[in-house]
Amino acid sequence: MNFSKNFLEIKAALEKAGLFFIVHDDIIACMSTKLIIANWKMNPKSAKTAREIVASINKQSKNFGDVRLIVCPPFIFLDEVSNIISLSKKIFLGAQDVFVGQGVSHTGEIGIDQLKSAGVKYILVGHSERRALFDNDEIVKAKMLGSIKSGFKTILCVGEKERNEHGDHYHEVKRQIEDAIMKLPKKFVGNLIIAYEPIWAIGRPENEAIKPDQLREITIFIKRLLSDIFGAKEMEKVKILYGGSVTKNNFKEIIEKGNVDGILVGRESLKVKNFVELIEGIE
Ligand code: PEP
Repeated sequence: MNFSKNFLEIKAALEKAGLFFIVHDDIIACMSTKLIIANWKMNPKSAKTAREIVASINKQSKNFGDVRLIVCPPFIFLDEVSNIISLSKKIFLGAQDVFVGQGVSHTGEIGIDQLKSAGVKYILVGHSERRALFDNDEIVKAKMLGSIKSGFKTILCVGEKERNEHGDHYHEVKRQIEDAIMKLPKKFVGNLIIAYEPIWAIGRPENEAIKPDQLREITIFIKRLLSDIFGAKEMEKVKILYGGSVTKNNFKEIIEKGNVDGILVGRESLKVKNFVELIEGIE
């Protein structure tokens, strides 16, 4: 029996006996709990559809196993999603980006306090689609530090554009991680999540997602890197996820053989039937 299952059983027994009073969400979400990030990107087109998607997932979430789902809608639908999941212990609200500069004269941006007041718990930073248009390594670092120091669980997205026989992708991933977290004080490491998302695997047909052995290798590499930076004990606190063309047909192999703590899902997270099947398939 794994630790988190054990813990939930003990918690249920104590609750039944009236002995368990305050349980923080983070205590329930143990290391073995799988994280699933639903990145809606610039979808859907209307608030009505946003409500329908999340209400349908929420309704079926009682069948979810040891997973925590983070829905990251566009800013304009944060409230729509929040209203529906507010009582859920399985589904949490995430933001796709954040602005971390001083003051308020930043037309078109959304800041830390606004995300807090909307009920956001997780923030994505450095997604490749944002790096391509707006965010360089300096900006990603500032967003990462700003977000994590403000108490958000922060998902740092990294990943190479392409792979070659010289293994240059290792350098690329190392540089992106080091640039963003070198100055991160150890006390925040527990709120760091790394999403490895090779750009060549995003938005592709499902058979072009990463191969599990390739993923396993890079996961070990990232863990080793984190261990060198923060020490082995702190490294254990960081969840490592994979993103890139995950579907209901390939998630199992990716998670189990790739040895990751969860997945970041783009397009498939908007196909409710497929997505729920995927989540229910995670043990
Ligand atoms: C993503 O948005 O980061 C992503 C992984 O998208 P997709 O699952 O559609 O490849």
